[in-house]
Amino acid sequence: MNEHMNGLIRQDFLKEADFDQVTDEKVATVERKLNCELGSVSATGRRSRYFVAGYRQNAAPPVVLRLLLEFGRGFLCCMPLLAGVVQAGHAVHWSYLGEEGPESWGHLSPDYHVCADGRDQSPVNIEGAIEAEMPPLEFNYHKGGSAVLNNGHTIQVSYLAGSTLAVNGREFELKQFHFHAPSENHIEGKGYPMEMHLVHADKEGNLAVVAVMITEGRENETLTEIWRQMPEQAGGKKDLQKRISVKGLLPASKDYYRFNGSLTTPPCTEGVRWYVMKQPLTVSVEQVRKFRHIMHHHNNRPVQPVYARPLLK
Ligand SMILES: [Zn+2]
Repeated sequence: MNEHMNGLIRQDFLKEADFDQVTDEKVATVERKLNCELGSVSATGRRSRYFVAGYRQNAAPPVVLRLLLEFGRGFLCCMPLLAGVVQAGHAVHWSYLGEEGPESWGHLSPDYHVCADGRDQSPVNIEGAIEAEMPPLEFNYHKGGSAVLNNGHTIQVSYLAGSTLAVNGREFELKQFHFHAPSENHIEGKGYPMEMHLVHADKEGNLAVVAVMITEGRENETLTEIWRQMPEQAGGKKDLQKRISVKGLLPASKDYYRFNGSLTTPPCTEGVRWYVMKQPLTVSVEQVRKFRHIMHHHNNRPVQPVYARPLLK
């Protein structure tokens, strides 16, 4: 249902785009929809205006929409708001298996066409990376993990405002992090048992994802806290008893690979900055097993062609 909502909300936004003029009232309408689930992303008037204006001018992917698509899984609270649209719209389901699996994503809906014809798709096999001067990643993370969601595609922890990643003079705020098993990106042809994605956005809505490979060994205590509270049923959401810090899930070394890519789930939107940490994080065999058990199936998109993209290290 979550991905259905994405499509439906999108349709609704397209209607908004027909506005001749962006008025405060119209902006407020868009904001109400966005605020519904985005919470900490909080659609400011400026962003909404940008969004509406972006559509009117046929600009590149509207930033708020991109945010919405990444964070909007589990739009339970938007159901009443969009009830009318739900009936009128058509729902496009996707999965990791079978006929709605990754090979078909690009053809399941016109909204997903980039999954099939994009040239900057994620994940990738990071091979032959070019040596480059890499600006340091500055993680200014605080305790902010506030709720854990099982959206049927992943386990996701939403993060309160105020934790940032600074790189090359740009600042991105951490919105949420989630997990894949096995890993989506590969390094020199090697996959890992799991991969974590920390999803950030800057003030303009540009996305930056920090990926951490996960290998098996010693148990990770932060993950234990999350796993202890993760909902077993898809659609389940649980407020965390204590705010957790994602710092406990970062590897010691902050060296990374850098390339441009996309969301790894439909609609596979491009323009995402990827930072893949070189050093993996260690968790226990049991922790990996527990995640796989709750997901019931793998949740990794296969690696995509790199085409002309430079991969930096
Ligand atoms: Zn991901």
